[in-house]
Amino acid sequence: MKIMTKKQHFYHIITFGCQMNKNDSERMESILQSMDLKSTEMPENADIIIMNSCSVRETAERRVYGKSRNFLELKKKNPNLIVCVTGCMPGRDKKGGLKKRLHGVDLYFPTRDMVMLPKWLSELNPNLRPIDLEKDYLTVVPRTKNKAQTFLTIQTGCNHFCTYCVVPHARGTEGNRSLKSILDEARDLASQGCLEITLLGQIVNHYIASDPEFFSKTNPYKKNDFAKLLWELNQIEGVERIHWTAPHPMYMDDEVIDALTLPKQINFIHLPVQSGNSEILEKMNRRHDREFYLETIKKIRAKKPDIAIGTDIIVGFCGETEEKFQDTVTLFKECDFDISYNAKYSERSGTVAAKAFTDDISKEEKKRRWFVLQDLMVDIAYKKNQVYVGKQVSVLVDTYKNNTCGGNSSEMKRVNFPGKKENLGTIVSVKINRAAEWILWGDML
Ligand code: SF4
Repeated sequence: MKIMTKKQHFYHIITFGCQMNKNDSERMESILQSMDLKSTEMPENADIIIMNSCSVRETAERRVYGKSRNFLELKKKNPNLIVCVTGCMPGRDKKGGLKKRLHGVDLYFPTRDMVMLPKWLSELNPNLRPIDLEKDYLTVVPRTKNKAQTFLTIQTGCNHFCTYCVVPHARGTEGNRSLKSILDEARDLASQGCLEITLLGQIVNHYIASDPEFFSKTNPYKKNDFAKLLWELNQIEGVERIHWTAPHPMYMDDEVIDALTLPKQINFIHLPVQSGNSEILEKMNRRHDREFYLETIKKIRAKKPDIAIGTDIIVGFCGETEEKFQDTVTLFKECDFDISYNAKYSERSGTVAAKAFTDDISKEEKKRRWFVLQDLMVDIAYKKNQVYVGKQVSVLVDTYKNNTCGGNSSEMKRVNFPGKKENLGTIVSVKINRAAEWILWGDML
């Protein structure tokens, strides 16, 4: 008798962009694995390829166009290959202009529609097993590779419409998860050995609970739901570190600033500023000015003097004169940032800036300003990291190679030290003996 064995199907996911996209890819992994599919690192071995796209920069979209052309070749060898594009591109592509530039793409859907994947895939390939999912994609539990460090999305979309930003166009308006589902997921993660949770949201500190009755009576915060949520997460046994990104300066009220002192809060905050000039900030629709941002940083440092601070900056926004750019340089120095993600402004179709302003700073000038900030950042980072020499930091170990362990300190500084494979996924104390711009070296205590 001949025994028929079922063919194993494979998927390959390529993720572009931010941590939110990475977390969404983990949800898609979870869906595909529930359909009995296995992951492959090799696109040529895959039956399904998913590109989770990012639209924040033009270069990220170009990479998706390039890859779709490459996959056309794979389709010639494997006509059953299913190529999908999800994420920000389909999200913002209301008129289908971007889709026209993609070749050989079978499924093109915004992130929230990932729950339709089993149905659509099984229609395209009847050998694939459909499964039932709830309508809300956030109820899909992400398949995390690193159990010790996980993302937890608490909010999607954004109502702010900063004039340069595609996120509200791509991900829609702000939607917050219920408090209960967040706490359930966090407890579940803790029970699986999660030590560090990173809360994700476009304006994470604007979180509003639709079910506030799940806040404990003993919660010390009274006004800000995000501060209350941080306190609740601090009570979960097993979780050792809580990290969140990205907050908006407008919502850094006294309660959220106070929550920076909660015991499990990491000693780092990433607070995007985008520009140091108030006129540019107004043109960006950031809803705060230079003084407000500086004041907020002062309040944070008054509460937690040794906290490491990161930011995002865009150089060369429409109308940014040299004088206005210098305001960003002085703000950078005043804030003494530990790290900054600097970007050259690039026009994104559909945004207010693309429609109403002129992209009037030349590519060369944007590049020059970008280097000015990069050089400044490197100088400051080097200076600030020297302070750690001789000190002890706690490190969550995430890499091991050739008897060397690596991980992030609570300040989000990269630390390397001699260690063992068993240290992976644990938090250890390391005494720092050497520091460079982007790395600290030390010995485990
Ligand atoms: S706050 Fe502004 S930059 Fe951030 S996601 Fe919303 S629109 Fe974009």
